Amino acid sequence: KGPDPDLVTIVERMATVKHKILVLSGKGGVGKSTFSAQLSYSLAAMDFQVGLLDIDICGPSIPKMLGLEGQEIHQSNLGWSPVYVESNLGVMSIGFMLPNPDEAVIWRGPRKNGLIKQFLKDVYWGELDFLVIDAPPGTSDEHISIVQFLQATGIDGAIVVTTPQQVSLIDVRKEVSFCKKVGLKVLGVVENMSGLCQPLSVFRFMRTTETGEQKDMTEWILSYMKEKAPEMLDVVAYTEIFDSSAGGAGRMCSEMGIPFLGKVPLDPQLCKAAEEGRSCFSDDKCRVSASALKMIIDKL
Ligand code: ADP
Repeated sequence: KGPDPDLVTIVERMATVKHKILVLSGKGGVGKSTFSAQLSYSLAAMDFQVGLLDIDICGPSIPKMLGLEGQEIHQSNLGWSPVYVESNLGVMSIGFMLPNPDEAVIWRGPRKNGLIKQFLKDVYWGELDFLVIDAPPGTSDEHISIVQFLQATGIDGAIVVTTPQQVSLIDVRKEVSFCKKVGLKVLGVVENMSGLCQPLSVFRFMRTTETGEQKDMTEWILSYMKEKAPEMLDVVAYTEIFDSSAGGAGRMCSEMGIPFLGKVPLDPQLCKAAEEGRSCFSDDKCRVSASALKMIIDKL
């Protein structure tokens, strides 16, 4: 029996892609797609040629996070063309193929695997510096087939996104052991939604007077700051919200001997950027999360 012809095509397709990074998570809702989207924006802003491939078949959120809802894929004689956000940032997602975004995608394993294979085989990316692949959460059959295909093309490795809670970290251990079993390098773990980051403008500042009354001092404090130290109005308050005594993802990484890439805070501005389909790097209100993401990306 000769080599699998699909695999041969995938290897040929991927020959023009320098680096392939798989983004994984143990659970859904931890920010894997948000991270994949912002990683892609950031690499593109560094003038790399970037592709973002969304194979989270049951919950494709990448089109919305890149402001590409309702776009369609075009076919050329070279294959399916990605949808471009910028000339150096192309996106491909199952979301572009679904007629109704509210409809649930209920597909069984073989059909999902077939589509993933088709994505790897038929998309014409051209020359890319980076292909960021947003995978479904967990460790399923699809993961095994994705990894097998990508390994044949020389994948760099996986980044695992988690939140600091123990329940999420337990699943990360599983994800890391999956990577070890299938021989996929773990590039590192990102702890997302780590602490809460808020601008001062969202707070009410209260004072209890001698008579026990609660007095709202917000206006007074803000106008005082505006007059005396206007730069203080740009200060953001950072709060730890999860119990950090167990050490979070950082400690888990050192125990498991894998790189810890860093923490991204829970940031309303980052959430807003994702909802509106923008890069958080272009939003100066999102400075804390953007600089955290930047540090992570520099470590890759
Ligand atoms: P996953 O891909 O792991 O299922 P998503 O990336 O879709 O998770 O994120 C789930 C929700 O949480 C989205 O609405 C996203 O905007 C929000 N979110 C993710 N990370 C952050 C963060 N660091 N700060 C604020 N909101 C976030």
